[in-house]
Amino acid sequence: MRIGVPAEVKDNEFRVAITPAGVHALVGHGHQVCVESGAGVGSGIGDAEYLAAGAVLSDDAATVWTDAEMVLKVKEPVAAEYDLLHEGLLLFTYLHLAADKPLAEALLRHRVTSLAYETVETDDHQLPLLSPMSEIAGKLAPQVGANCLMQSHGGNGTLLGGGTGVHKGKVVVLGGGVAGLCAAQIALGMGAGVTVYDVNTARMRYISDISSGHIATEFSTGLGVATACRDADLVIGSVLVPGARTPHLVSNETVAQMKPGSVLVDIAIDQGGCFEDSHPTTHTDPTFRVHDSLFYCVANMPGAVPHTSTMALTNSTLGYATLLADQGWHKAIQTRRDLARGLTTHDRELYSLPVGEALSIPT
Ligand code: NAD
Repeated sequence: MRIGVPAEVKDNEFRVAITPAGVHALVGHGHQVCVESGAGVGSGIGDAEYLAAGAVLSDDAATVWTDAEMVLKVKEPVAAEYDLLHEGLLLFTYLHLAADKPLAEALLRHRVTSLAYETVETDDHQLPLLSPMSEIAGKLAPQVGANCLMQSHGGNGTLLGGGTGVHKGKVVVLGGGVAGLCAAQIALGMGAGVTVYDVNTARMRYISDISSGHIATEFSTGLGVATACRDADLVIGSVLVPGARTPHLVSNETVAQMKPGSVLVDIAIDQGGCFEDSHPTTHTDPTFRVHDSLFYCVANMPGAVPHTSTMALTNSTLGYATLLADQGWHKAIQTRRDLARGLTTHDRELYSLPVGEALSIPT
């Protein structure tokens, strides 16, 4: 199969969808891999390494897209890339379509077969292609939150770890899944007081057990979350309802009652966000104010640490990409039910029920 790997074009996105080791493996299976020149530079991977692994290089993004039977990417195509989509193309990438109607319409219009990393799901409900990035975004959230809390960055001047005789910062984590647990552990390590809100009691029991009770857990209700937010220095949103738009757990009215200079980090922004006032931001301009609070809503947080993120992502995607290339998408999704759950569009048909519901497109 001819496989194309374009450079990412999203703002400050330095990850790349394949490493030289991945190229080597795919070429070893008899496939041709065309990588856009410079695609790996942001992740510390030079063109020469791709060439040595057996890749073909191209200076022209359009050629990488149009010559490919399968395109491997990290982030969803942006508007400037829509015209590079073509009939019969297999696109394997993060899509987050539930919050992106223009992209959904472009994929259907161009008859692209797309499989979304984030909806590849095992029988025991693990999300193997989302979780490595959720882990990284979760670990970053207290770091960026603590930065925003500094007075010079517009925060309330609270140090999460407090001081001797001085109370610690209060961190509320909404959704204790992969991202939420990582966020809670890092915040705890920074010395903060941490409470995780979730609706899954088994998950909360696990969090309590592995943290020896140091991370507090609460069942997530509208009233409970609103009350906790009013008292918090940092609120981290990491809720996920797979494939669907994220529920808004923090209203504008609640933000109006929060402490001046408090910070809200919405990790779940790529699925629409779990705060009412969230809108996607970029690494270049990551924050905005709502009432007296600071919002951080960067949709590609792992892009800030591309060395770690590219390795973590491609370790997980390569096996699936190899299967797709070896067998073709149709046979591959019959072989693997986890991969089948990633099928999002094919030949003007939308296959994801939650995306259809979120965007009012028939499935
Ligand atoms: P996950 O499925 O592991 O965890 C989600 C958790 O939310 C689950 O524990 C679930 O029980 C809980 N939940 C569901 N409804 C809830 C509610 N009403 N109140 C409280 N908790 C609720 O998901 P994850 O892998 O941790 O991903 C979390 C989010 O982070 C997703 O939206 C994902 O797309 C996003 N993400 C964003 C970035 C970024 O760069 N911004 C990177 C990676 C992941």
